[in-house]
Amino acid sequence: CGIVGYVGPQSALDVVMAGLKRLEYRGYDSAGVAVLADGGLATAKRAGKLVNLDKELSEHPLPAAVTGIGHTRWATHGGPTDANAHPHLDNAGRVAVVHNGIIENFAPLRAELAERGHALGSETDTEVVAHLLAEEYSACADPAEAMRRVCRRLEGAFTLVAVHADAPDVVVGARRNSPLVVGVGEGEYFLASDVAAFIAHTRDAVELGQDQVVELRRDGVRVTGFDGAPADVRSYHVDWDASA
Ligand code: GLU
Repeated sequence: CGIVGYVGPQSALDVVMAGLKRLEYRGYDSAGVAVLADGGLATAKRAGKLVNLDKELSEHPLPAAVTGIGHTRWATHGGPTDANAHPHLDNAGRVAVVHNGIIENFAPLRAELAERGHALGSETDTEVVAHLLAEEYSACADPAEAMRRVCRRLEGAFTLVAVHADAPDVVVGARRNSPLVVGVGEGEYFLASDVAAFIAHTRDAVELGQDQVVELRRDGVRVTGFDGAPADVRSYHVDWDASA
């Protein structure tokens, strides 16, 4: 129900957790985070309120990281359990993805992945995306291109945000019929389903259009359509008072 992504000089975990707290008002049943650190991925996720995730993080701290993603879930496919909470990973644990919305054609995609030897560990519609991203990334070694290729195969309404351990300073996002906004800071970028998640850091935003993919790096943002064509982006300044 809420999504946050971050790349920049601050503690990614702190930025992402604070962002998720700003989105709590939307309601959710589980929460999770992933950070890229030490050449790999580290994740934590828990059913229930963010306080459960906070407790997990204080018992099992994640390594310091400058790239991270987070999610609050409103379950549609699979009950609100720890295993079904996002992020979802591929079998090698190199890709993490969070998702708001519904992937309508997840059943045939699951069957296809199972046939190719993937083991799916959750009941969600989301998990197929992590496995597909891992396959596409192996083929093209480009996180944004992998996301575009996967999105072209998905049906439904979705916001997706993903990271790959091989690209430790990149966050990619995609949207179809679900909101996703980029926050533009100085040497840092945010991605969220709602500007409230990053308003404490920047008021400069870019709204993603329908069927667009965004790639966030420390040095900039690049937006394309699902077809790879460069997209016109709409930048704006958030001038309403979001501190209330
Ligand atoms: N359909 C996904 C799930 O059930 C995402 C739900 C959401 O929007 O949080 O896990």
